[in-house]
Amino acid sequence: QSQELSQVRIDYQAALYALVEDGTKMVCTGRMHTDRVCRFESLCYSTEAEEFVFFHSNSSIMLPNLGGRRFQPALLDLSSVDDHNTQYFNFVELPAAALKFMPKPVFVPDVALIMNRFNPDNLMHVFHDDLLPIFYTMQQFPDLDLDSRLFFMEGWGEGSHFDLYKFMSNKQPLLKEQLKTLGRLLCFTKAYVGLTKITTWYQYGFVQPQGPKANILVSGNEIRHFAKFILGKVNVSSDQSTTEDYIVLFTRSINRLILNEAELLLALAQEFQMRTITVSLEDNSFAEIVRLISNASMLVSMHGAQMVMSLFLPRGAAVVELFPYGINPDHYTPYKTLATLPGMELQYVAWQNTEEKNTVTFPERTWEQGGIAHLEDVEQKRIKKSKEVPRHLCCRNPEWLFRIYQDTKVDVPSLIKVIRNVVKIKPGSRKQKFANGLYPGRVRECKCQASSSGASVTKLSVSWQIPWNLKYLKVRDVKYEVWIQEQGENTYMPYILSYQNHTFSENIKPSTTYLVWIRCIFNKTLLGPFAEVLVCKT
Ligand code: UDP
Repeated sequence: QSQELSQVRIDYQAALYALVEDGTKMVCTGRMHTDRVCRFESLCYSTEAEEFVFFHSNSSIMLPNLGGRRFQPALLDLSSVDDHNTQYFNFVELPAAALKFMPKPVFVPDVALIMNRFNPDNLMHVFHDDLLPIFYTMQQFPDLDLDSRLFFMEGWGEGSHFDLYKFMSNKQPLLKEQLKTLGRLLCFTKAYVGLTKITTWYQYGFVQPQGPKANILVSGNEIRHFAKFILGKVNVSSDQSTTEDYIVLFTRSINRLILNEAELLLALAQEFQMRTITVSLEDNSFAEIVRLISNASMLVSMHGAQMVMSLFLPRGAAVVELFPYGINPDHYTPYKTLATLPGMELQYVAWQNTEEKNTVTFPERTWEQGGIAHLEDVEQKRIKKSKEVPRHLCCRNPEWLFRIYQDTKVDVPSLIKVIRNVVKIKPGSRKQKFANGLYPGRVRECKCQASSSGASVTKLSVSWQIPWNLKYLKVRDVKYEVWIQEQGENTYMPYILSYQNHTFSENIKPSTTYLVWIRCIFNKTLLGPFAEVLVCKT
């Protein structure tokens, strides 16, 4: 609706004067190109050269000023995918005086978020690489509010899920292709370039086989906060009190089919005494699917991008992921990782077809759809005989594509069995009380005293006070961990204690200096920080 940029009126002469006089200003966060997001004033873009332009003047600022390292390999990643060489951002430099000889700048008055979508036709990529990072980049910089505008520079068309991107701000996102229609030299008054990677949990296997990111920084709380935002956009209130428990079977209609859907639906309904509902991206609107999933007790689906929508499941629900023959579930875990993020509070189940007779292969299809007819005979034979796809890199491994695009007749008894192994009580039941997950503070007022009663045994008495936050918390189980280390030694004696003092006598030597480390532990798993080390001489 608001395609044209003239929504906010700006004084053209003043803007041009500011650009010529002040040039471009850039200040970035992040130490490496892979964790950098930059804020610009007066960043320009030549739609003819397809290059961003940094104008130097007396007032321009460039932080970090990397010199030539700006090209090694880039200033920053334009998408949330780490260090992908098709997603780099840089600019070319010019003196502001060159503006005299250039096309008249067209100013973009909206605060801009400039980025690349990674794969806008795949729903997993849409959520994981784009929507969540956009949402949290906007949380990080307050002037990126609902009135800011997204600019997608990857060069794709709208893609199949453009409506989802429209949720992120009140202004129509603009594609690279559309910038040409706006002018030859666009100048962004205020722009943020790049996306935060803090919310991503999966790496797709460009340099090592795919798997969870090494250092996941997001928890279910942030995922659910985002899900609530989307629920609001599709007019689903998140706390509709469920009137009836039901299971959602999320199917695919084009490929990777479940061949006995009807049998599966019936069996699930009987086993769990619940209604079962089938949805697919082909037959249901996004809003319908979100509404159904957000109240479901269980989601069952073939491995595939549609499973990212399990982020809309209520706490306590079960996620059941089905894998075709030859695909090891442990090697493809984007949805398992999501479901098991701390605080997601979902129960995850993987099932794999282990019966070759229950799989249908498609060797004659195109290679993108898993065909292998283009390969040499020996290779085709090897692939057909192989019982498991070996670990591999993204994205064109023919054996992987062959196996992942199989159709499957699900062996219902074996599926019910693996579900029952994990989902002991009624699926969707939130009776399991989850730890609230708050960590203890430091223990306080640590003291130690040595005593050698007579000349017989040397003892070390250590005492401390509870962490400050404990007096405001109800914690089921509070323990203290004490490490006693002889100064200069590499090893230490660890103890778990229930009280705030203890006298140690075994292995305590006279005339020795001990270092004593103390921390508090809530509910066996939540380890607090160590207090400052105590130095104790006997
Ligand atoms: N898709 C679908 N039904 C199908 C096949 C694909 O809804 O029968 C969707 C899928 O969820 C994803 C996109 O189309 O959003 C691309 O699917 P692809 O098989 O390439 O990727 P994958 O699901 O394996 O990530």
